[in-house]
Amino acid sequence: MKKSWIDVAPQSPFPIQNIPFGIYSTPSKTARPGVAIGDKILDLKGLFDLHLLTHLPFASNDFNTCVLNTLMKHGKVQMAELRNTIIELLDEKNDILRDHPLVKDVIDFQTEATMHLPVQIGDYTDFYSSEDHARNVGMMFRDPEKALLPNWKHLPVGYHGRSSSIVVSGTPIHRPYGQTNASDETLPSFQPSNQLDFELEMAFITFDGKPMGQRISTAEAKDYIFGFVIFNDWSARDIQRWEYVPLGPFLAKNFASTISPWIVTLEALEEFHEQGPVQSPDVLPYLKYEGNFNINIDLKVSITPPNGAETIVSESNYKYMYWNYAQQLAHHTVGGCNIRCGDMMASGTISGPVAGSYGSMLEIAWKGTKPVPMKDGSERKFILDDDTVTMEAVSVGKQYNIGFGNCKGKVLASV
Ligand code: CA
Repeated sequence: MKKSWIDVAPQSPFPIQNIPFGIYSTPSKTARPGVAIGDKILDLKGLFDLHLLTHLPFASNDFNTCVLNTLMKHGKVQMAELRNTIIELLDEKNDILRDHPLVKDVIDFQTEATMHLPVQIGDYTDFYSSEDHARNVGMMFRDPEKALLPNWKHLPVGYHGRSSSIVVSGTPIHRPYGQTNASDETLPSFQPSNQLDFELEMAFITFDGKPMGQRISTAEAKDYIFGFVIFNDWSARDIQRWEYVPLGPFLAKNFASTISPWIVTLEALEEFHEQGPVQSPDVLPYLKYEGNFNINIDLKVSITPPNGAETIVSESNYKYMYWNYAQQLAHHTVGGCNIRCGDMMASGTISGPVAGSYGSMLEIAWKGTKPVPMKDGSERKFILDDDTVTMEAVSVGKQYNIGFGNCKGKVLASV
């Protein structure tokens, strides 16, 4: 098995097989691209300045940046070459960087780094592609016998969201104010949401796509996807319930979403791909696919009140998706909609088949009817002020793990 000359703990999310990309700064370095390796970060701007990347078709300005878009603009093949070069330089068999007199200048400790939003996010789309989640919500709010709407098994339902309020892990968010109306029969009130929820999702980030008017097939989807992050689609259920008819979610979703800071590449996740569920009824030809597009990624959500007593409230897996990422991208572009470098598409809440694997408090506490006991003796139906919600994601392999790190956000009182 390939190993790095940088020490990597056996359970580390960031072995040499991962090499996820992010943007970081330290007290002495401005924000810049880096890759995670063990508990360190390799400074890519510094690496370029040491002339160790000059054989690649990148320019100094591509690294002298606080977003990864300048690098990603070069596309799939060149980003894979960059990652392979980094892996080569970190390989224990390679002494070029290890023995370089300035090697210390390009290696930083993650504990001393501040992580930033890794890309300038263009358009953001949210899907609704977990059958168990859609069924749970359908059972709660509609006829349990017809929990899935007639279109659900024929297309990956989605909506266009808001990118300006997507923040990086660690950024606190404020509980939103909004209109709510519990009965539909009285006048609405204006107040802080009292049904603030998380949604456990994964999101993929795209390269530039084809020109407008051309579609991307399921077979081509991988060529246009850079990698994945954990995505918490914060949701205000009481606001959502009143506003979503007939056009779908709006202010209940646009106040904040949180992502994990490291983009784990599709290449690093390749060997964790698995066969997806049988899709019945048969899907239309443009949604058919060959190969595996479901990824085995263990997911975990915890709630930590200010007293520090963390309670795990969900353990799920990204492999439970009914519609996979290739189908989502094919569907998104089938009418000719173009995608751009830095666009983000989230999976939709990922719920597994059994209680304990649900991806939102709405389902975990079943619309407030089954409050969740917390380690400190309190209970939760939804998220309270000063709670921190933490999501973790890791693909567990036989010899190493491919991890994403944390997606964390503390809820502050309304302002
Ligand atoms: Ca969502």
